Amino acid sequence: MDLRKIKSALKTALIGSVFSFAAIATNANAGVTDEDILNDAKNTENVVSYGIGLQAQRYSPLDKVNADTVKDLVPAWSFSFGGEKQRGQEAQPVIYDGRIFVTASYSRLFAIDAKTGQELWEYNHRLPDGILPCCDVINRGAALYGDLVIFGTLDAKIVALNQKTGKVVWKSKVDDYKAGYSLTAAPIVVKGKVITGVSGGEFGVIGRVEARDALTGKLVWIRPVIEGHMGHIWKNGKKTDNGVTGTRGATWPGDMWKTGGAATWLGGTYDHEVDLLFFGTGNPAPWNSHLRPGDNLYAASTVAIDPDTGKMVWHYQSTPNEAWDFDGVNEFISFDLKKDGKTIKAGAKADRNGFFYVINRKNGKLISADPFVTRQEWTTGVDMKTGRPVETATARPGDPAKSKDGKKGTSTFAVPSFLGGKNWMPMAYSPKTDLFYVPANEWGMDLWNEAITYKKGAAYLGAGFTIKPLYEEYIGALRAMDPKTGKQVWEYKNNAPLWGGVLATGGDLVFFGTPEGYLNALDAKTGKELWKFQTGSGIVGIPVTWEMGGEQYIAVPSGWGGAVPLWGGDVAKRIKTLNQGGSLWVFKLHKS
Ligand code: CA
Repeated sequence: MDLRKIKSALKTALIGSVFSFAAIATNANAGVTDEDILNDAKNTENVVSYGIGLQAQRYSPLDKVNADTVKDLVPAWSFSFGGEKQRGQEAQPVIYDGRIFVTASYSRLFAIDAKTGQELWEYNHRLPDGILPCCDVINRGAALYGDLVIFGTLDAKIVALNQKTGKVVWKSKVDDYKAGYSLTAAPIVVKGKVITGVSGGEFGVIGRVEARDALTGKLVWIRPVIEGHMGHIWKNGKKTDNGVTGTRGATWPGDMWKTGGAATWLGGTYDHEVDLLFFGTGNPAPWNSHLRPGDNLYAASTVAIDPDTGKMVWHYQSTPNEAWDFDGVNEFISFDLKKDGKTIKAGAKADRNGFFYVINRKNGKLISADPFVTRQEWTTGVDMKTGRPVETATARPGDPAKSKDGKKGTSTFAVPSFLGGKNWMPMAYSPKTDLFYVPANEWGMDLWNEAITYKKGAAYLGAGFTIKPLYEEYIGALRAMDPKTGKQVWEYKNNAPLWGGVLATGGDLVFFGTPEGYLNALDAKTGKELWKFQTGSGIVGIPVTWEMGGEQYIAVPSGWGGAVPLWGGDVAKRIKTLNQGGSLWVFKLHKS
């Protein structure tokens, strides 16, 4: 080897080592890593994912705040989202390195000093006229990855901001907001990919799951969840066909699958042990089920998707040929089911249709299905042989095509109402008590079907409805469900419908908010109310907890709104005195 070659080789080696040093240095500053996200449920100093871990158990082992100390829980500070944009605040805050990132109504995102409550920066997404959010201008939270904070917007975009500056790093258009698409769910990040669904179920949009490179926003794969639609995967920057979902035409008549709905509007969860994403899918479109005889896969289902390839691995359909707006979007929470001396890798889901399902998360096999509501006037139970619900004779409203004028069918009274035995608000699971804490509602509806044809950007229902409370005393009920028996262990009744998420802690407490404005702490074993605090507006957000400087903190957004005041029918009368707001409340133990 001559000298020149040696010099050149040396230079290459040096450059190589400089580069690798630079790469290590960048990693040290890289912020939130995949490992941080996988360990989120155990690391009590940060909350770096929606669900407090990708399994979404919403359980923190923190126990300084417990049955003995919770009486000393007092506000540390409160932060106003400001402006005139005081609508439903349904977010779960995320916390990293002393900063809180919380989304607010109208696609806003705030970065706040976790110690002082001081604003660090604010991002106001510029929304065009003509966005089509079905159920208030809400947002449910952001994802963290590297030095980015990532969230979806009401005009169907994903925006990634620098955590320190709030500057836009990348932006990606998901779809056409004029066709009814929007994004309200919190994204999750799995193996460096940001995973999202789509909102817009009542406009005949096609539900799908998408994976993007979390650092660049570039698409990796797309999986539509309605049978017949082509999936895609990007290979060397090129969009490539990745197989049709299911078998086109197998469970849908004619062309109905083309506008078949099943919006994946609540986002998904992930389980590391079986390496699968779990997404719930919305109701098939339109609501009028007489127009689409067949099971209408994969609407009103739970689907398991391979996070690397975007292929569907299994599905379980909770409501075949769905007819009541029983979206199957609810969170599927993986957990270890200890039953009959065995530990089964399971998952649980409290569905809009009123059933609490326990499913084997490796293969989708149904383990149990039990009601978590007091009345279910559309079914007599699930046939465990077929996994299908048995419908009552009066479950479905009449076919409008068979009515005198061909326009409006006969009405039926169905329970739960279309807002569900449980809606979007996430339940929690405590591995300490082995119980799920389900925010449930008791209501029914008069429901009838009407003639309808698809029109881009117009509501695609073919139905009319009026929601009615079932009981004078209460609508909402937080219920502790035992996944081993499917039985309710205790319940806490609430006058207004519950619409906020739940947090369980190692201090054996369960935290959740009410539309009446209270953040409540109950005993996780008995349901006894131990503490409550009035936040000044209704709570429809999700509480979280973390540790800072040796103290345990609890945060919850407050701000009344969401779907209930917009769609609540007779229920809306009960809640008309509740006031709007928009703030983040943070609590810690008072030091005497
Ligand atoms: Ca729906």
